[in-house]
Amino acid sequence: MEIALIAHDKKKDDMLRFVTAYKRIFSKHQLYATGTTGKRIMEETKLSVHRFQSGPYGGDQEIGALIAKNKLDMVIFFRDPLTAQPHEPDVSALMRLCDVYSVPLATNMGTAEVLIRGLDKGDLEWRSITRGETKNE
Ligand code: PGA
Repeated sequence: MEIALIAHDKKKDDMLRFVTAYKRIFSKHQLYATGTTGKRIMEETKLSVHRFQSGPYGGDQEIGALIAKNKLDMVIFFRDPLTAQPHEPDVSALMRLCDVYSVPLATNMGTAEVLIRGLDKGDLEWRSITRGETKNE
């Protein structure tokens, strides 16, 4: 599966802890991330991550473009709900696209835990079916 990982600055340590805790599962999938989040994940976990621009420089929009092509199966986006973001419109657009394409989206660690365990059990296999349908349209 194709998984995007994004964390705002105050949530980056949480993201590193999360990816480290579930490294065994993440290592079986293709990972994508915004610039700084991806760099820190690669440094910390040695997992391979396809990095886009940093979020405020268009990284959220690049990930949104993948969602619009229905090429992502899961988005884990640890947002900082207590700090204003200069690229808030990009953040909202990304989350909106997840809803348009029914892409599972976790915006906090509680939901992310459920999603990643579900992924490991095969609960997201339906994604490969819906992705296939869209590609053939
Ligand atoms: P970053 O971007 O991973 O480059 O910090 C995340 C964001 O702010 O959306």
